[in-house]
Amino acid sequence: MKKHNFSAGPCILPQSVLQKASEAVTNFNGLDLSLVEISHRSKDFVDVMENARELVLEHLNLQNQGYKALFLHGGASLEFLMVAYNLLEKKAAYLNTGTWADKSIKEAKLFGEIDIVGSSKDANFNYIPKNYTIPSDVDYFHCTSNNTIFGTQMQEFPETNVPLVCDMSSDIFSRVLDFSKFDLIYAGAQKNMGPSGTTLVIVKEDILGKVSRTIPSMLDYQTHISKDSMFNTPAVFPIYVSMLTLEWLKENGGISEIEKINNAKAKLLYTEIDRNPLFNGFVANAEDRSKMNATFSLANDSLKDTFDASWKAAGINGLNGHRSVGGYRASMYNALPLESVQVLVDVMQDLEKKS
Ligand SMILES: *Cc1c(COP(=O)(O)O)cnc(C)c1O
Repeated sequence: MKKHNFSAGPCILPQSVLQKASEAVTNFNGLDLSLVEISHRSKDFVDVMENARELVLEHLNLQNQGYKALFLHGGASLEFLMVAYNLLEKKAAYLNTGTWADKSIKEAKLFGEIDIVGSSKDANFNYIPKNYTIPSDVDYFHCTSNNTIFGTQMQEFPETNVPLVCDMSSDIFSRVLDFSKFDLIYAGAQKNMGPSGTTLVIVKEDILGKVSRTIPSMLDYQTHISKDSMFNTPAVFPIYVSMLTLEWLKENGGISEIEKINNAKAKLLYTEIDRNPLFNGFVANAEDRSKMNATFSLANDSLKDTFDASWKAAGINGLNGHRSVGGYRASMYNALPLESVQVLVDVMQDLEKKS
């Protein structure tokens, strides 16, 4: 039986998607060829790319509004610098909410002045800073919607006249937002969409072409827009699997339906963390808790061996917290069923009964 996979990333994917993907590896579209051994310029693969890019804009409600969806290489980590390369002329504003935000700031500093308008570094990133102001003279504002490692999530996004850039690696397609508020969204595929190896970028075309520096072709969003994400050989397998996941999401009612399940999963687990005296949540304020990654620890570390043995015996995978936080992290991405969260909650309740 399949494990209850709470892995933070690469993440759980729908079983039906994995099944279809494995068939395509041996015989794609009945071509008697593998998906990974045909030309990326063949009609069969060009259709995959077009379908994937369409589905992205459709799910986010961004069709016909000047946005382009791109599948690039290099992970979200390359976007940390590509964003600055393409958009930062003089000064940009950043919100520092965790390790990934911190890394994006480090890269952006290579290109201009960075104004850190809010930070929760003082408390090991256990909350989301609020009431910060974004100067009107910056080239853009950058934030991280969901902090995968610390388990915090932004519920509100600022109203601002400057371009809004967001790293949505770990919560894209998980909840309904007004995505048209954002000018550039990026996400490594492997948190909530597909295997690692491709990065999704959604960019409003009219924010580009404004910096004075020369941008190398591979790092220039306009190159990839003009070549429909086919400037060089795309990551065919991760893009294909991402397309299958996006189709699966559509068959299951889209973001609004998956959000209901995500809310139910988060409620089930956080209710238990709050109720059970053996566990403590990591995040300081309940309103900042992530619905994707729940971070928690044992109140008494002497129960660690018993708890670890119990969840492993229950078929749970990937519950250990990130080394910078410790404790546990339950990642509840779109493909994780509610039943898996129930299994975890049962293990937590059993521990209470036994101790
Ligand atoms: C995992 C993660 C990244 C890094 O992604 P890579 O694709 O490994 O470069 C960046 N931002 C967030 C929010 C993440 O969760």
